[in-house]
Amino acid sequence: MIKAQRGTKDILFDESYNWERIEKIASETFRKAGFSKIQTPIFEATELFNRGVGESSDIVNKEMYTFSVGGAKKNENSITLRPENTAGVVRAYIEHNLSRLSPPQKFWYFGPMFRYERPQAGRQRQFHQIGIEAFGVEDPSMDAEIIFLAINLLKSFNLSDFEVELNSLGCKTCKEEYKNSIKEAILPYLDKMCPDCKVRYQKNPLRILDCKQPSCQEILGLEEIKKVVLKDYICPHCKNHFDTLTNYLDELGINYKINKFLVRGLDYYNRTVFEIKSSHLGSQSAILGGGRYDSLVETLGGPKTPAIGFALGVERLYSLIEKVEVQKPDYYIVSNNQKEALKLALKLRESGKSAEFDYGNRKFSKQLEKASKTAKKAIILGEDEINQGFYSVKDLSSSEQIKVDNYNDLI
Ligand SMILES: [Zn+2]
Ligand SMILES: [Zn+2]
Repeated sequence: MIKAQRGTKDILFDESYNWERIEKIASETFRKAGFSKIQTPIFEATELFNRGVGESSDIVNKEMYTFSVGGAKKNENSITLRPENTAGVVRAYIEHNLSRLSPPQKFWYFGPMFRYERPQAGRQRQFHQIGIEAFGVEDPSMDAEIIFLAINLLKSFNLSDFEVELNSLGCKTCKEEYKNSIKEAILPYLDKMCPDCKVRYQKNPLRILDCKQPSCQEILGLEEIKKVVLKDYICPHCKNHFDTLTNYLDELGINYKINKFLVRGLDYYNRTVFEIKSSHLGSQSAILGGGRYDSLVETLGGPKTPAIGFALGVERLYSLIEKVEVQKPDYYIVSNNQKEALKLALKLRESGKSAEFDYGNRKFSKQLEKASKTAKKAIILGEDEINQGFYSVKDLSSSEQIKVDNYNDLI
């Protein structure tokens, strides 16, 4: 038997119904805030992710599904299954020249992403994200709105047990200074850090602050390191941006915690970064994360455009929400006259009812058994009913059966 690949999963029946609900609720939440849905391809040129996600990130280094296509000139056609969707949306923004339109341009998406990781609880190789990206606004009111939307989305799934963590990484100038002081502080302990952090030290030292390895955690917990990390290093412009944002959040009554160790895994973030965590998710506690990426559009060949967004893990969200059962159809038509059964089913659907019919050739008792598992009510269409023009309607929860003379009483 051929099975689904490791780290992938089929979604069916009630689960599928709940996934549909998730997308619908997300769509309604974002539409109210003026976001339109964007659908970009699930594969892109490998170069997009190398440049867009960043060559020092774990994703690009270890986790991409990359293929060579196109025969002899293989290297010219290296494609990659998207490991995240910000790079793709930015690519589309540039390709369609959306900077010519009046800002902001606001998009949301829902779809599968692919990362080659060791499958474990809460992590799949094909997983799904819902995300938003907003282009063209530098003002912190945009940051506040994005964070508010993230919270709003979780609340529309009746979730309340979560915490917002917030940090500012600063701009190009102040981020660079910060990186240098972190490197200086860490240098004496570099030998004792994990192999990943040794690489990060050279390529993206801020990511060391995010390391979950116990040996690195221990070093990060040292007073002299903490002192450097917790120092207010950001420049006056960045500080003003961050203070205005926290003011807005206070004004909106949003609880948040400033976490100076929060850096996020991707290279492109600057200024505001945030995560929303749920205590119910164990070690994979972030359900949603995002931030500003004011230089990414330019990095990928577009005009200078400030931007901000977030992405939410749908599998993680799914594990937290209350599930609902699929609504049963209104009617199941029990009959051995399939022409009449089909006609009645189509007519009921046109009248706005949901209806299925039995494909026949079985005893009514068998058909009723199927009906009782499938629908709310059965319409029995035997010879008498057809010849005399009435319907026998059986309520499948109470087993009560009534005679209905008029079609309009069915709808
Ligand atoms: Zn700055
Ligand atoms: Zn480490």
